[in-house]
Amino acid sequence: MSSFRAIGRNSSGIGALRPGSISFLTWHNSPAKTIGPLYPTIAKCYIIIMKSIVSLRRCQDYEAGGPARVVQQVIDDLGGIGSFVKRGERVLLKPNLLMSYAPEKAVVTHPAVVEAVAALAIDAGASVSVGDSSSIGSLPRVLAKSGYEPFMKRLGVQAAVFKDKVTIDCREGRIFRKIELAKAVFEFDRVINLAKLKTHSQMLLTLAIKNLFGTVVGTDKASWHLKAGKDYDGFATVLAQIYEAVNPSLSLVDGILGMEGNGPTGGPTRRIGIIAASTDAVALDATICRLVGFPVEKLRTCVIAESLGLGTTKRDHITLLGDGMDGFPLRDFKPPKSMTVMWNMSQRNPMRRFLESHMAARPRIDPNICSRCKVCMSHCPPAAISERNGEMIIDIRACISCFCCQELCTSKAIDVVHPLFGRIVAKLVG
Ligand code: SF4
Ligand code: SF4
Repeated sequence: MSSFRAIGRNSSGIGALRPGSISFLTWHNSPAKTIGPLYPTIAKCYIIIMKSIVSLRRCQDYEAGGPARVVQQVIDDLGGIGSFVKRGERVLLKPNLLMSYAPEKAVVTHPAVVEAVAALAIDAGASVSVGDSSSIGSLPRVLAKSGYEPFMKRLGVQAAVFKDKVTIDCREGRIFRKIELAKAVFEFDRVINLAKLKTHSQMLLTLAIKNLFGTVVGTDKASWHLKAGKDYDGFATVLAQIYEAVNPSLSLVDGILGMEGNGPTGGPTRRIGIIAASTDAVALDATICRLVGFPVEKLRTCVIAESLGLGTTKRDHITLLGDGMDGFPLRDFKPPKSMTVMWNMSQRNPMRRFLESHMAARPRIDPNICSRCKVCMSHCPPAAISERNGEMIIDIRACISCFCCQELCTSKAIDVVHPLFGRIVAKLVG
């Protein structure tokens, strides 16, 4: 199993063997006599190439115990729940609980999937909690509105509210030296990451790596958006470093009913019919990115996390178990409208500035749909939204195209538009 996650959640700075990486181990005390004349040529340097395992299985709906059976299968493919949870441990389940939405809207991780993982962990002798820092609404309210309460009561699962913060020292050489995350996350023995398969207007897809942004407490999320600005790779670096710091034992993606188009809240639901899991969230996200038909190099969270040695995106470093990729990739899975050619362009590329001002997708508020609730205004990281004469106005020069406003607008009053030049180029490059 690819469970060589030597970095403990509180032990950043310690070297690690990551799945898919190539590691050179020096064997100083090698008994030369057993290796013979080839020592030291071979014995001193071992090259270990580890493959990451991703389990991918079909599950068409949330009915009649289907998710419970398939969740058990994907976890069994990875060695069984006993590989991840020990008797007496405290386990935190981290689903996507962005805000209160009924499960059939495909915004939150479906409660049937979370219940299935909780039941397995409890059977293995663990005590289980569910936690997230929702963008809007208190955790108890989001749990109630999103259909979590019944199974939590039935199984004795607690709610872990992310309120207090702890500063995590990042590994030597990382761009961000310190990250403040929810203290509660580090009070558990294990974190199991339970993501939803959705498009994301800023980051293309929100899967396992992006899901852990929910361990940033409340309005601190806006500060990270502000720090990264329009630098999508910068924001992907933040997300990759959060993944490294949280270091979940297991990541699982609920892709039974996902979202395409203008996700993570405004797109149409799309039945994809899969559940997938891995100990390597980079390999997991890369596999799902291929499955929905997007090029992996455009999923910057994966590319950056791989460059930091946190996992692999490479097909030949990933062993796929379960039902395989028959029927995939999807040919018609709709990307978010904001998808731009800049997503794989370095911040240092001189063309980028020009393209940003002439091509970058922007949010636009439809005054006929807008209810003037001002949620977008209060959550816009650079305060680019204001109210003028009873209308919500976006200052496009201040906008950093993070699309938080679109994500949080429950009226679906915010669309994504491209400047004319951007539309022409998009047509030309297909
Ligand atoms: S969140 Fe949506 S409905 Fe509310 S003010 Fe902004 S655009 Fe209007
Ligand atoms: S206007 Fe919307 S997209 Fe622009 S910075 Fe504010 S929240 Fe982000």
